[in-house]
Amino acid sequence: MTSRTISEIRLVNGSTGDPALFIDYPGRDNAYLFDAGDNSSLDMERLGDLGTVFITHHHVDHFMGLDRIVRANLDRDKTLAIYGPEGTIRKVYDRVKSYEYPYFPFQKIVLEVHELLPSIRRTARLECSLKFPEPEVVESSWDNRVVCDAGGFTIEAAFADHTVPCLAFALVEHAGIHPNPQALANSPLRPGLWVEHVLDQLRQDADPATLLTIGDGSFRLDALRKRYFIESPGSRIAYVTDTAWNERSQPGLLSLAHRANRLYCDCFYADAQATQAEKYLHMTASQTAEFARRAEVDELVLIHFATRYRGHYHELVDEVRATFPRVTAEFEGAENRSRNEQRSSRERED
Ligand SMILES: [Zn+2]
Ligand SMILES: [Zn+2]
Repeated sequence: MTSRTISEIRLVNGSTGDPALFIDYPGRDNAYLFDAGDNSSLDMERLGDLGTVFITHHHVDHFMGLDRIVRANLDRDKTLAIYGPEGTIRKVYDRVKSYEYPYFPFQKIVLEVHELLPSIRRTARLECSLKFPEPEVVESSWDNRVVCDAGGFTIEAAFADHTVPCLAFALVEHAGIHPNPQALANSPLRPGLWVEHVLDQLRQDADPATLLTIGDGSFRLDALRKRYFIESPGSRIAYVTDTAWNERSQPGLLSLAHRANRLYCDCFYADAQATQAEKYLHMTASQTAEFARRAEVDELVLIHFATRYRGHYHELVDEVRATFPRVTAEFEGAENRSRNEQRSSRERED
């Protein structure tokens, strides 16, 4: 159990497709997406819910879905935040500019792009209403840990060690009051901005008798608290992919995933391919297991299995389980997809 406060947590392409993790919370029009590779199983409405996209790196299997994300949000009057490693601003800008736009007045999307380097954060706003002029980049310092803070949550990052600049992320839910997704799903009140408003009031210890207007009704704060909110002990979900496991990456990754409720982790190679893992900077099954064990995570979910193991992916899971028993992988849909893909047996190592 990662957290009772998440309404949806979806490993978009299972353990065998492009790594991508979609996390949504009730009452918020701001879902999180970790990595932007193949996201064709998320419809335009789900992608339109996104508030923040975190990109580990710019290999095609982590970045090619950006077009669908931009398209789903183009006509919205919103700011979509995108975080990634060095080069993200230019790469997002080049992608956006590779299309022609009618620049209708309702196309108001603003892409607020941040790239994170050691101790440095660069930010640029790409604005559709201004016809996407050349980005003005603002540079500031960064503590090499906290990416952003969003009322009750913090996103953290660490530097991975891959063939190109690459980040790993963790979503940290603070202990305290959070919306209860189950209660909100069954509620006559549609989740909306009021959830955030009530949350603010509760976190500020407002008078329990405060009356709040929601739709046509008036509700006491303590009644809303009781019915729609729960106390959470806090949680940590770490997302780590495309990295070597070595002395350069270990301190940051161990700290990022320390005692995580769930760790989604790269398990690209079986131990027999340790040489390839070292060359292409991915993890082997026993390295993944060692990482989970040393980070003392509750639960490990394997991601990014190399296609060379198609038909016997379970061997990767077995190799991990030998050292770390609380491990799972998701295969549903992925095996079907791989049948359609019919990719050559030549290995892609991205
Ligand atoms: Zn990859
Ligand atoms: Zn890669």
